[in-house]
Amino acid sequence: MTTTCPFSWTEDLPPRIKENEYDAVVLSMKKVNRFGLTTVESQWRLLIPDSREKIQLSGYCNLGPTKQAKIHPQSKLASWQRAVAAFTRGNPKHVTLKSFREYWFRVRVRTVTRNAQGPLHDRDQYSVVDDILSVGGKLSDLSADGLLTLPMTQGESSTPTLSYPSCIPGLGPLRKDALTRCERCDELTAFSYGGHARCLLHARERADEEGQG
Ligand SMILES: [Zn+2]
Repeated sequence: MTTTCPFSWTEDLPPRIKENEYDAVVLSMKKVNRFGLTTVESQWRLLIPDSREKIQLSGYCNLGPTKQAKIHPQSKLASWQRAVAAFTRGNPKHVTLKSFREYWFRVRVRTVTRNAQGPLHDRDQYSVVDDILSVGGKLSDLSADGLLTLPMTQGESSTPTLSYPSCIPGLGPLRKDALTRCERCDELTAFSYGGHARCLLHARERADEEGQG
C-alpha cells in the first residue's frame, strides 16, 4: 500500500560524491538571481570512465548584488573566462557563457556543508563543481571511444550501438564520430544519421515516428 505525499518536490537534491578532481562538460550556463545576487549558474555532467551513472552537478559564480552588470576581474567567472582564453589564446573578456559548452574541463568538486543559516545536516549535504582547474580540450575533438562512451549510454546494453537504431529512414545509417550534441535536446552524443546528431532517446523516437508514418 502506498500513500501519496501531499507535497511534491521541485527537484531532487543534487548527488553527493567524493571530493576530487573530475573531467566534466558544461550542459548549460546562465545568469540567474540567487539569494539577491547575480549569479552564473552552470550545470555540469561529470565524465567518469566506466560508469553508467549520469552525474550532474551545479556550479555557481557569484557576481555581486543584483543589477550590477559588470564582472569583477577577481570574480570566479572572470577566472573561468581566463581558463578558456588560456586554452584558445583569445581575449578572456570575449569568452561568452555559451562558449563554455564547446570544451571539456578538469574541475574540482566540493561538498557543500553549510548554507547562510549555518552547517548542513549530513543528509542535506551535496556536491557542486567548485572550480575549473583547466580546459581539457575541445568537445568536438574528444573521441567517443574515450571518456564519454559509457556515460552516454542508457539501459542495459554494454555498447551504445546496440540501443541505437542502425538506420533512421529518411536520414540515413548510424554513424559514430566525434562528440557533439543532439539536434533536438542538446544531450551529448557521438552518434548521427546523415549528419543529424541524435541522442539515444531522439534516435529511437525518430525511428519510431518514421516506422509508423
Ligand atoms: Zn535528444
